[in-house]
Amino acid sequence: MTVVVLGGAGYIGSHTVDRLVEKGYDVAVIDNLITGHRAAVNPKARFYQGDIRDRAFLDEVFGQETDIEGIIHFAAFSIVPESMSDPLKYFDNNTSGMITLLKAMKDHNIKRIIFSSTAATYGEPKQIPIKEKDPQIPTNPYGESKLSMEKIIHWSDVAYGIKFVALRYFNVAGAKADGSIGEDHHPETHLIPIILQVAAGERKGLKIFGTDYPTKDGTNVRDYVHVVDLADAHILALEYLKSGHDSDAFNLGSSTGFSNKEILEAAREATGQPIPAEDAPRRAGDPSTLIAASDKARKVLGWKPQYDDVKEIIKTAWNWKKSHPKGYNDRGEA
Ligand code: UDP
Repeated sequence: MTVVVLGGAGYIGSHTVDRLVEKGYDVAVIDNLITGHRAAVNPKARFYQGDIRDRAFLDEVFGQETDIEGIIHFAAFSIVPESMSDPLKYFDNNTSGMITLLKAMKDHNIKRIIFSSTAATYGEPKQIPIKEKDPQIPTNPYGESKLSMEKIIHWSDVAYGIKFVALRYFNVAGAKADGSIGEDHHPETHLIPIILQVAAGERKGLKIFGTDYPTKDGTNVRDYVHVVDLADAHILALEYLKSGHDSDAFNLGSSTGFSNKEILEAAREATGQPIPAEDAPRRAGDPSTLIAASDKARKVLGWKPQYDDVKEIIKTAWNWKKSHPKGYNDRGEA
């Protein structure tokens, strides 16, 4: 039996592929390498380069990998500000890509999918911590594209019996403890890797987007999970469906919120670097506070995150950064 990981060369995908291989699963990876890195894929996984919007390509892979026990789907764009300026890019790759994928799954009789959803589907929450049943009213096209994907999968379950688990990620950070794989985005937009670029002297200073939010210090509050803990949740979700449970959605977070200024302080301690920062205007589309109620994933999936200290999470990202100053160095940049 094979697990097919879509977007398995990306940040979260590559850590999940690595964990699957470590746990003895047979793994095939599909990735178009637009944002992913070939070198991030565990060499024990078979690799197919192609796009999930390409139906003929999916038919070819699903024809070759004939014993597929489930799909884990990470192959989506995920940058909030980019989605604000180019929403159709998001509805095309994320939403339309999901429709092509589900049609192919239906025709090849593949009945399980674990899907990367996001806290961005909730938008500006009415209450903290956010529970899975709370209203989903996205404030940006990225969140909207993922919410539409959740709905499309739901109706595909009703009609075709394709079982799903939607995992709604809060903020993900860190790297494999040995520093062999990690986060490498071009351009980088996420807070912790940007802070570490400043710590490494690659960037002049951090801009803190928005200091007038209704939070403890005026900056946005987010809930951080270590990427390997997140990866493990996907494997638990697959096993959950395999044991006959029904489709469901789970938040993946730590249930603890850190403001952007607190993250900066933790990174200063984790790296021992001064990390200069300045206040800057709000970034469009940012909800003020996102903290997960994640007891459902712990109770129902048996998820037990290993990292509960944000400084330790940052240290693993710093370890990757120091050992790979140019990331995977596969973008032809100096
Ligand atoms: N952020 C910031 N400066 C940066 C990048 C991000 O102040 O250079 C803030 C961003 O506005 C948000 C938080 O850091 O409040 C987390 O943003 P990120 O893009 O890492 O993740 P998101 O919460 O959007 O998924």
